[in-house]
Amino acid sequence: MPCKAFPHDSARSMTQKNRLALIVEDEPAIRRFLRATLVANGYEVLEAATLHAGLTLAKGEAPDVVVLDLGLPDGDGLELLKTLRQTSTVPVLVLSARDAESAKVAALDAGADDYVTKPFGADELMARLRVALRHQVQVSGDAPRFEAHGLVVDVVRRQVTLHGGAVHLSPKEYAILEQLARHAGKVLTHRHLLGKVWPQASAADAQYLRVYVRQLRQKLGDTAETPRYIATEAGVGYRLLTDG
Ligand code: CA
Repeated sequence: MPCKAFPHDSARSMTQKNRLALIVEDEPAIRRFLRATLVANGYEVLEAATLHAGLTLAKGEAPDVVVLDLGLPDGDGLELLKTLRQTSTVPVLVLSARDAESAKVAALDAGADDYVTKPFGADELMARLRVALRHQVQVSGDAPRFEAHGLVVDVVRRQVTLHGGAVHLSPKEYAILEQLARHAGKVLTHRHLLGKVWPQASAADAQYLRVYVRQLRQKLGDTAETPRYIATEAGVGYRLLTDG
């Protein structure tokens, strides 16, 4: 089973401790691209081409981040994710096919931190990884305050300002924006947002979400077509855009 450690583990214990990324991907060309991108960004890299090898490395080597393809020769990457989540909170970025919204949602609901859709570029990959890693630090708990592009969401004071002026939101609008701000840069599924804002709602109530997000966008002077703040991830959910 193709599985290779690179570079050797002893390099990790040297003074400069780079982040360790685990790539689980069966297509050699994509694996090479991922490795080159991650190494260029200062990561050390472990590679696995199968679900089985990936799980072994994920458990044995304690990577700082996992980049996980869903379509693997010996099973669904989703199964690796579910097994891993029983014991680990390591950030997991899923590689997903275009037009595979239900697979993306399933991966996010199973504990993936985010996804990139194939084909993807190095910049997008690294941006998603930065968000996932930053988010894991945030979960440990500083007072959350989101600020980007003139929008400030102060979760402690429950205040929202846009270029210094107060934005008056209804409780539901604020609740949606607070969730997005607490997870800034991450995609939140419809189910996640509904569960936080309308605990009694069912999946069929996703239309409420659309209505409130539209109102929220209007108050922020934002549009779905060219979003500055709230981006729509079609068939999946919403993401609050960050400065980078
Ligand atoms: Ca594959």
